Amino acid sequence: MDKKFSPRIVQDRERIVTQCRVCDSSNLQLAVDLGFQPWGNHFLKKEEVGKEPFYPLCVVFCMDCRTPQLDYTVPKETMFGEHTYLSGITKTLSDHFKIVAEEIDVMFFESVSEKSVLDIGSNDGTQLKHFKNLGYDVLGVESAEVPAKLANEAGIPTVQAFFNFESAKNLQRKFQVVNAAGIFFHLEELHSAADGVKEILANDGVFMVQFLYMKKIMENLAFDQIYHEHLLYYNLRNLETLLNRHGLALFDAYLSPVHGGSVISFITHKGKRERSPRLVAMMEEEERKNTNEFTTYLEFAEKIREAKKKNLEYLDIAKRQGKTIFGFGAPVKGNTLLNYFDVGTEHLDYLIERNELRRGLYSPGMHIPIVIEGEFEKLPDIYYVLAWNFKKEILARNQHLIDQGIEFYFPVNPE
Ligand SMILES: [Zn+2]
Repeated sequence: MDKKFSPRIVQDRERIVTQCRVCDSSNLQLAVDLGFQPWGNHFLKKEEVGKEPFYPLCVVFCMDCRTPQLDYTVPKETMFGEHTYLSGITKTLSDHFKIVAEEIDVMFFESVSEKSVLDIGSNDGTQLKHFKNLGYDVLGVESAEVPAKLANEAGIPTVQAFFNFESAKNLQRKFQVVNAAGIFFHLEELHSAADGVKEILANDGVFMVQFLYMKKIMENLAFDQIYHEHLLYYNLRNLETLLNRHGLALFDAYLSPVHGGSVISFITHKGKRERSPRLVAMMEEEERKNTNEFTTYLEFAEKIREAKKKNLEYLDIAKRQGKTIFGFGAPVKGNTLLNYFDVGTEHLDYLIERNELRRGLYSPGMHIPIVIEGEFEKLPDIYYVLAWNFKKEILARNQHLIDQGIEFYFPVNPE
């Protein structure tokens, strides 16, 4: 690590993972080492700069159940108390949420008159609004205070809590639909949360989970999806292993382009429904592509090291030519990339961001100042795009800048 300050390393013994989070095996092998990194979701106030703790960020692979996972757990109270990601912000995501709600309704519940949905990690209620419009009785569970408050103010009833067996039981009711976009499988209390879903899912209910697909992360070299909040990474095979442990099972799944490659999966009580042909095909594809083999992870790690070299070469040449470069977007994953690549203020003057909550803050680890898009008049020669998963939206929205000769460089290039 080549920081201009001495990072404060925190590595509590009891937080180092020595047994697989899914199957308890101790046969874990180091797959991807991203060094020590600060918690990527905590953008810093000026007085916090340089004082943020750094934690290990390594992916280990379970040789038994094939689950890639972090070998260190930053406490959930640190990570999920006040995160600043608001799902209502990007149009791509909001459209996606609408499609998801309509789809599950048409597939399973269109003819049902009284229907209900629970959204786990419901954020500001964006997903639930779409269910509400379709006539669902909606409830959100969200651990972070600000988004939970915003949701309640917008008329989406939201309980501020961590989702686990206890908080699920306390709801004292069943839901036809349980939705979890993104966050569910990253819970520290994974097994308790899975039991919680088993508890509240109606007999004919459908548990819909969207998760980052590790197979796609590797294929797209989207290593910046690895950060402390993502404790585990899923392919269909290890997901099924986890679900089966809790009396649940996959019955359908398909690939979605969100976040550069996610899977939308449909789960129910074990033994209730047959696997769909497209799910079977995806699971076979994993085996054919060696997705669940350790050697595939080692190849992935090597490609990440090569990407670092390539990116630094590009940025160094641009700086030597006297060009100014701004980061485009300040997503959490951008911090994994910036810290691992060692891209800091010597390369990027600012990060241009739309999320108001990040106004005036600094990126953790690399300490690049954030300015709000549209309020900042200076233009760079190059935008270094950290929010690369919104590539199409960003290029379309900024055609006028591209016409002026401003370059948009994508450090990670999705398919
Ligand atoms: Zn395991």
